[in-house]
Amino acid sequence: MSIVKQTFILSTLLTLSCSTLAQAQGPYLDQTTIDRAVKPGDDFYAYANGGWLKANEIPASEASWGNWAILQKKTRLQLQELLQAIAAQKNQPGSDAQKLQDLYNSGMNTAVIDKLGVQPVQADLQRIDAISSPQGIATEVTTQYAAGLVGGTAPLFRLGHIADPIRNDVEIITLSQSGMGLPDKSYYAEASPKAVATRTQYVVYLQRLLELSGTPKDAAQANATAVMALETRLALGARTATENRNIRKLLNYYTLDKAQKQFPLLGFNSMFQQLSIPPAKIIVAQPEFFTGLHKELTATPLATWKDYLKVRLLNSAASALSMPFVEAQFAFYVTTLTGRTQMRPRSEQMVLVADGLLGEVLGKAYVEKYFTADAKKRIDELVQNVTTSFAERIQTNTWMTAPTKEKALQKLSTIRRKIAYPDKWRDYSALQIGPDYFSNIKAATVFAFRDGFNRVGKPVNRALWSMTPSTLNASYNPLNNEIMFPAGILLPPFFDPQADDAANYGGIATVIGHEISHGFDDQGSQFNEQGRYKNWWTSADKKNFTARGAALSKQFSQYVALDTLHVNGKLTLGENIGDLCGVTVAYQAFKKTAQGKGTQLIDGLTPDQRFFLSYAAIWRIKARDESMRTQVLTDPHSPARFRVNGPLSNIEAFYTAFNIKEGDKMWQPVSERVAIW
Ligand SMILES: [Zn+2]
Repeated sequence: MSIVKQTFILSTLLTLSCSTLAQAQGPYLDQTTIDRAVKPGDDFYAYANGGWLKANEIPASEASWGNWAILQKKTRLQLQELLQAIAAQKNQPGSDAQKLQDLYNSGMNTAVIDKLGVQPVQADLQRIDAISSPQGIATEVTTQYAAGLVGGTAPLFRLGHIADPIRNDVEIITLSQSGMGLPDKSYYAEASPKAVATRTQYVVYLQRLLELSGTPKDAAQANATAVMALETRLALGARTATENRNIRKLLNYYTLDKAQKQFPLLGFNSMFQQLSIPPAKIIVAQPEFFTGLHKELTATPLATWKDYLKVRLLNSAASALSMPFVEAQFAFYVTTLTGRTQMRPRSEQMVLVADGLLGEVLGKAYVEKYFTADAKKRIDELVQNVTTSFAERIQTNTWMTAPTKEKALQKLSTIRRKIAYPDKWRDYSALQIGPDYFSNIKAATVFAFRDGFNRVGKPVNRALWSMTPSTLNASYNPLNNEIMFPAGILLPPFFDPQADDAANYGGIATVIGHEISHGFDDQGSQFNEQGRYKNWWTSADKKNFTARGAALSKQFSQYVALDTLHVNGKLTLGENIGDLCGVTVAYQAFKKTAQGKGTQLIDGLTPDQRFFLSYAAIWRIKARDESMRTQVLTDPHSPARFRVNGPLSNIEAFYTAFNIKEGDKMWQPVSERVAIW
């Protein structure tokens, strides 16, 4: 139910879908963005984007600014216009339009919301106060799921579902670590002054939530400190984001009976029964976390657990409550962790709420107005061209043997493609939306929960979309062996039917290549063409592949993102493979176009120079230090500068295009350049 987009909260099980990131606008390769004081071979990112970076500031309402954020903002304003038009018209009761209308209008009615204060969750807080045994803690969590009160950081653990990674025939249940409000284990464990300061701010936030719900100041301070100590104990038994990339260690299959016996106080039997979750296999992603959690249920005083449940509930609800709650949450999760100081206008925030809760209703209106069939046809062609080049690269690969190549080609040829928007839209008829904002949020959360868990035990529905049509992102899902490109990324500067091929291949084709490469990165390569977790490699080929990944990981770990903070080469390996291979394969596809084969200069630039400058342009981004720090600590994507300089310093054609020589800072000895696909 969290509404503030807490993108730093890493989803627990299998960080499988990836997001690409960031962006530019305006005439293609507007050369005022270039900083000619920088040598392209010293820092290509700064060369390509320095002019723009020097001339622009990050708006107070944004954590970063650049092509990515600018396009997101533009799309948000288009959605806002659509929403406001729907909210102003007369709609049939029960229609999708009426739901959007009431959701928007109720959310905009801040006079009523502010007057209610904590009242929407008052009865829930009283119920928590009445808990009288450790068993009651898990019962409360079940009640919160049933009521649509669990959002953002789920209390205790996260209950989810997933296509069974081994058999890939039905949806099964997942139980994974959660319940900690800081973004990663390292935030609890590290002794650096920055980490200590963030923890202090976090306790201030917890205290504020308790005070706002009626706890006297002194007690609130002591209780917040006790909750923090509990969270820290849980965190020390949790895995880091990097550790959670080890898929094999996540796949611990349990029966309900075994989970119930091993963790009796968590009451999974009654939880599943009360939530009408069909009997199915369970994956307990981090069993040792559950062991620690189970121990704390009796080792930690019940009073602290009650405060813990309260702050989790209040945090989940905060963005839908009165302004003091909204401000408290913003102060920590946005200002402290990303450096943004100004909230976006409420009407713009409501776009994210509507996109999150009624995404395929709003998305349908969006594509009807803004997306053309022509664009879809052109993207289909680009996906085909990139796929063809990927196949050639597998065939001509020098480090892989024929049997593994055959399997790789089979996997490549069966990748499912989801482009722009779903063929069949989600049915929201069972969801009722009315005049009360908080009730609407709860109803939509319950609807989404039921929609998901009704699929447990049934064959996997591969037609569903995990992103809404207006989303500026793209993904690869190894469990479906599928790539997804929502309409929201099929826009300038990623893609423009009017632009030259160099711009489109340096833009959207590198993204397409990136997503396809995820099928063959260190994680995706562990799944076969049917989306099953199953080895299809010879051991010698796997060893070779792993060594190449390790070399890339080492390169990225040398990059310094901020003061002494290095990029985490292990956390970002999958994304870095995606970037390196994405650019490589998009370049190969570009070289088959008329422009790519030719030598014609445009504005004094060769076709290859335009390709690489277009690639650097999509990553043009200015980020606040706080946002950069959070990204480096939690995000599997490297910072934009290294998403450009890292891959390019391994690509021969880039060296040639900009005449990069030994002695230039990006120059690497041929023997140290990494090539994977
Ligand atoms: Zn990715």
